[in-house]
Amino acid sequence: MAVIAIENVGKTYGAHAVLDGVSFSVPEGRCLALIGHNGAGKTTLMKLILGLITPTCGKITVLGCDPARAGKEFRRALGFLPENVAFHDELTGTDTLTFYARLKGLGWPEVRPLLDRVGLLHAAERRVKTYSKGMRQRLGLAQALLGQPKLLLLDEPTTGLDPVSRQEFFGIIRDLTAGGTSVILSSHILTELEAQTNFVAILREGQLAAFGDLDVLRAEANLPVSVRIKGNAPAIAQGLNGSYHKVLGPDRGSIEVDCPAVQKMALLRTLADFGELCSDIEVRVPSLDDLYLHYSGRPSVTIEETGS
Ligand code: ATP
Repeated sequence: MAVIAIENVGKTYGAHAVLDGVSFSVPEGRCLALIGHNGAGKTTLMKLILGLITPTCGKITVLGCDPARAGKEFRRALGFLPENVAFHDELTGTDTLTFYARLKGLGWPEVRPLLDRVGLLHAAERRVKTYSKGMRQRLGLAQALLGQPKLLLLDEPTTGLDPVSRQEFFGIIRDLTAGGTSVILSSHILTELEAQTNFVAILREGQLAAFGDLDVLRAEANLPVSVRIKGNAPAIAQGLNGSYHKVLGPDRGSIEVDCPAVQKMALLRTLADFGELCSDIEVRVPSLDDLYLHYSGRPSVTIEETGS
């Protein structure tokens, strides 16, 4: 069953169409990376899913309900970490989480295990004003996890976290999705997202520019595979003749060759025939960054027959 079904949704403020004709669905237990430039409509889409605002047109179904009309049970099943999390400075971590637990109709026994899970138990009785940005973000995640939500929405959640905290954070997200929780995660740090999920939605000026599994989007975009070869670069370039776009490294001890994905094996076989001319080969498939540049409308790498 789809946890989220979005059908032809639009959201307009005055004359400004913030979202336009957006349709997609998210199955149970998947982590969707929601990406797009500043102002593309990511937060607006999350607010629509949460039922905080209503669409101008189209239909949104979340956990089988219309989020704008759904009641308490529905809200309990959702967890949300906003982009700019703000807490009362004078409350301790425990007080803060107990307050949010009450709002969700939950008891305090949830509070300590959650503080432990996000690594804040040691600071549980300290006032939030003494917390670092990363600690506040962890408290925000604990707040979002109250009540074991079926759907978790995280708006740029790793902002302010150091690399170790980010890894711990994503470890928690992986455990949650393995347990069946669905997650929507927005971020501008694409390399980080790519390591966590292969399921993406790319928004471009309020429209859905791409949606689905990265492998499918890679095949659809047909971006070149980049092969970096170390060895006798001038001889390798000569051997490849006019095939493929290639750039010699500054020391002429390496060469970078772009080739269409379907020709990758043919290129590798040719390189194997070059024997000692090649000392090492590194293949780089298009990254989420490359796909984002492609689908967000910026010029992508073109494959030319240069013969150089
Ligand atoms: P960012 O990556 O910078 O957080 P975003 O993709 O989350 O951006 P949104 O916050 O959804 O973008 O905003 C999308 C557009 O909608 C922006 O142009 C914003 O100014 C506009 N917008 C959002 N909320 C309102 C509102 N209440 N009234 C008018 N315009 C709004």
